[in-house]
Amino acid sequence: VKGVDGLRIAVLGLGRSGLIAARALRAGGAEPVCWDDNPAARDKAEAEGFATSDLSRPGAFEGIASLIVSPGIPHLYPQPNPVIAAALDEGIPVDNDIGLFFRSVGETDWSDYEVEPKVVTVTGSNGKSTTSALIHHVLTAAGRESQLAGNIGRGVLDIDPPGDGGVVVLELSSYQTDLARALTPDVAVFTNLSPDHLDRHAGLGGYFAAKRRLFAEGGPDRAVIGVDEMEGRYLANQMAEGPGDDRVIRVSSARKLTGAGWLVYARKGFLTEWRKSRQVGSIDLREVMGLPGAHNHQNACAAYAACRTLGLAPRAIETAFHSFGGLPHRSQTIAEHGGVRYVNDSKATNVDSAAKALEAFTRIRWICGGLEKEGGLEGLLPSTKSVLKAYVIGREAAQFAVQLRGVESEVCTDMATAVARASAEAEPGDTVLLAPAAASFDQYDSFERRGEDFTAQVAKVTAGG
Ligand code: ADP
Repeated sequence: VKGVDGLRIAVLGLGRSGLIAARALRAGGAEPVCWDDNPAARDKAEAEGFATSDLSRPGAFEGIASLIVSPGIPHLYPQPNPVIAAALDEGIPVDNDIGLFFRSVGETDWSDYEVEPKVVTVTGSNGKSTTSALIHHVLTAAGRESQLAGNIGRGVLDIDPPGDGGVVVLELSSYQTDLARALTPDVAVFTNLSPDHLDRHAGLGGYFAAKRRLFAEGGPDRAVIGVDEMEGRYLANQMAEGPGDDRVIRVSSARKLTGAGWLVYARKGFLTEWRKSRQVGSIDLREVMGLPGAHNHQNACAAYAACRTLGLAPRAIETAFHSFGGLPHRSQTIAEHGGVRYVNDSKATNVDSAAKALEAFTRIRWICGGLEKEGGLEGLLPSTKSVLKAYVIGREAAQFAVQLRGVESEVCTDMATAVARASAEAEPGDTVLLAPAAASFDQYDSFERRGEDFTAQVAKVTAGG
């Protein structure tokens, strides 16, 4: 990290990203002072030679230049974190690894470079990982240097110095954007907005505000904005000088876009790009993309638009789309057996992503349930038309099942039972889909473990035939 030489900087939270931050600070000549409430995490930091100090004790911030907070730590809501509260009282600037990264990029002298490296950020409620990975994949396949970092890929302070003309693709969650003191991407992508993580952002307004910071005044050179919700249309409107301003690329997979601006939209799986009311590119996504559903077409449109701002030709993007295999636990077809398709969408942890999954298939045997998110399941019901039956898992499976009004359901509680029952009842042409519409923490450590359990159970029922 640049710009921290000789400074004492406090680091709160010593998980993976906290330790990476501490190392990067040390490498930049700073003296990190670390804390984590968990003694085991402190031991790990001490083993690497970092000083630890209880940052919540009085006077802890004496001589400290700033506080770097890990993304996992809620800072204001639902309760203020005591260390952060103390830093605020002392007037200590509170920042995170993303802020450090952008500050460092800003302080780097790129004059030896022919083409300055570009930073692309991807934010939004759903589709961030898929879109980020797709942008990275396309750039790499087209021969551009690209590094994938942030929420996915490497820690943001762990990446290699970009080469001439290189690109850093950063997936950012709202937890990261709300704290960062510097947010200065060259290209900012906003996928969509749906209610999620509302507890930490004190409602949808706060959540939207956390994302919006990326599109503020004097913001990115280019913004790629999903306009399928009102909030996206609002963002795009605020950023553009007028209808023909091509700083903003509007993206949709739900509507035909009009106007003189820069537009990318998909209808019935056919992507078109428009500039000044003229069509300048097209891709038949059904031909070239293995990923199902309108939501993945939205991701494809956003990735396409981002790559266009980086100078790639439509044909190069189309070619690269062919070889994108998707990410594990997101709309991932894991088996085809006896005419039945098995799809792992364990990452569908909220109502909107599960709804998108349900809209992407027909004849669905739906495995759902888990730790319910705020807001209930009401928003999901209009998307359940193709569900033949729900097989409900989770500790509160019965309570989950009663909310699925109009859907035939069976309380299975555990994954093994759900997969066995769904597969026993499935007929050729059916899809057994794990799209929980709930978090996994009542039964698993993570959505990945849940997806792996699903995959293992599917392997059992499909073995030997
Ligand atoms: P994120 O990183 O934002 O969580 P992912 O790409 O990991 O996004 O996808 C999260 C979940 O949302 C998965 O279940 C995936 O199938 C679904 N999904 C992917 N793209 C979209 C989208 N554009 N809109 C709604 N749901 C999506």
